[in-house]
Formats: sequence, structure tokens, C-alpha cells
Amino acid sequence: MARHPEPVTELELRFGSPDETRGFARRLGELLKGGEVLALRGDLGAGKTTFVQGLADGLGIGRDQIASPTFVLAVQHRGKRLGLNHVDLYRLDEEEAIELGLEELMTGPGSEAAVTALEWAERAEDLLPLERIEVNLSWLGQEVRQMTISAFGVELEELLGRIAAEGRD
Ligand code: ADP
Ligand code: MG
Repeated sequence: MARHPEPVTELELRFGSPDETRGFARRLGELLKGGEVLALRGDLGAGKTTFVQGLADGLGIGRDQIASPTFVLAVQHRGKRLGLNHVDLYRLDEEEAIELGLEELMTGPGSEAAVTALEWAERAEDLLPLERIEVNLSWLGQEVRQMTISAFGVELEELLGRIAAEGRD
């Protein structure tokens, strides 16, 4: 019988290489159903874009397409299964994020056909939906990053529980 994982609200992991970070994010991407919002936080070089590359992989989108969208602000990728909205809010404030149509992108019509990943989510803190995945990345060494991932919302807690259970197997 399928095991039902206990809900998990927070998971802390350490990655020893960019591929380890991408590997975790790929698995997460595979489990997403569409409509999810991921708020990514961490200093420049912490690995937010690298994480999104793995996520894209898991969604069936070529990871080579994923570059830092700092100059484009938002890029919409089409995937075989789900799309990916990759947004970088570094240069924006909340008002500009509203003008960009961020809320529509995250939760408007059609949003369930894609996943939205926001780099520098803190720039639009008040616009973030209550149900979301929070990913905090920090630099520990040249190739080492610490990640804290939190789930808000019952379904996302279950999803995180599933990933945590896999990690323990
Ligand atoms: P951000 O988007 O947070 O500014 P990037 O993902 O663009 O960060 O850059 C992270 C840099 O750190 C990349 O050059 C990546 O290859 C490198 N790196 C080294 N180790 C890791 C790791 N474990 N996880 C993610 N990136 C790593
Ligand atoms: Mg980046």
C-alpha cells in the first residue's frame, strides 16, 4: 500500500555541489502539480538560479534555457507537462511587481498550468500567496550551500513530507 508521508513544514539540507542542489530541485519539480509558488531567498550567488535550473528539469523544461532573468524580470517557459514562470525581483519594488502582473502570474487564470519561481521574493513580500513553498539558500563554502525549505498549506506540507521520507529511505 502506498505510504502516506507525515506532513512536514520544514526541512533543512546541505548540498555539496551545484548538481546536488539541482537534483533536489528536480525531484521537487517532478512532484509539483501546477499553480505552486516558490519564494526563493538568499544572497547573490547563493544558488537561487541554480535551484530553478533543477526545477525546470523536473518540469520537463530544458535547464539550459534557465539563466538569471535579472535583465528580463520575468520569463515564461513552456514545458511538456507544466510551464515555469521564472521571475527575478532584484531590481523591483512592490509597486513595480504589481505593474509587472506578478499576482496574475502567480494566482490568476491559467496559473495552474505553470509553476512560479521568484528570486528575491522578499521584494514583493506582501504579494506572496499564503500557500507557498519557501526556499532559503545560504553560502557555506565554495561548493556548499545550506537550504531551508518550508511548506505553507496542507498539500504542500504533504509534498514536502514525501520528499523528506524519500531522503530517509
Ligand atoms: P543566485 O541566483 O542565488 O544569485 P546562482 O545560482 O546564479 O545564484 O549562482 C550560484 C553559483 O554558485 C553558481 O556559479 C553555481 O555553480 C555555484 N555553486 C557552487 N556550489 C553550489 C551549490 N551547492 N548549489 C548551488 N550553486 C552552487
Ligand atoms: Mg539568480
